[in-house]
Amino acid sequence: MDTSYQTLVLNRLWQAVNVVGVERAFSLLSVDHAQVIYAEDGSFRMFDGASWFAHCKEFEPVFGSRVIHTVNQRVFVPSVLILRTYDRMLMQEMKFNRQNLLERDEFKCQYCGKNFPTKELNMDHVIPRDRGGGTSWENVVISCIRCNSKKSNRLPKEAGMRLLKEPKKPPCRPFMTSLYGKPMEKTWTHFLHGK
Ligand SMILES: [Zn+2]
Repeated sequence: MDTSYQTLVLNRLWQAVNVVGVERAFSLLSVDHAQVIYAEDGSFRMFDGASWFAHCKEFEPVFGSRVIHTVNQRVFVPSVLILRTYDRMLMQEMKFNRQNLLERDEFKCQYCGKNFPTKELNMDHVIPRDRGGGTSWENVVISCIRCNSKKSNRLPKEAGMRLLKEPKKPPCRPFMTSLYGKPMEKTWTHFLHGK
């Protein structure tokens, strides 16, 4: 079974809340926790698990290779599912990594306030590591190479420098925003607009 296919999962309010693999998608369908949404010419058709298994062959031209072979039939892997009961909006914590830090600090050196190409931006420990400063949202900021080396292994105050703003952990964001800019199925775009 090719398990690389991904299925977008919506809550009852048609908001994207997850992306799941083949096994999870079919298990949601088989216990009837979700229905398939099939988009066609701007309108949507819904199928529960049983009717999807019965009818999905009709959609062969659309789904093409999104197929798995079970013991006795070929089944198309739906690209979008909608949950029957879940109506919360899934919020995700921002992971601490360089890309998200760049976004939080708006690609701007937090000491001189200038924008630089990303490759000329460093991650700077406000309290240096060897003085107990952690690698966390609260202690790491984006800095240009020049400010970074000027500050060196000192506190900003000791180096006569000031931060533009106090570094904080960014707020959680809706799950769907974490999908922006990533490769995705064409059929998902209906469901991922707005914030
Ligand atoms: Zn700078």
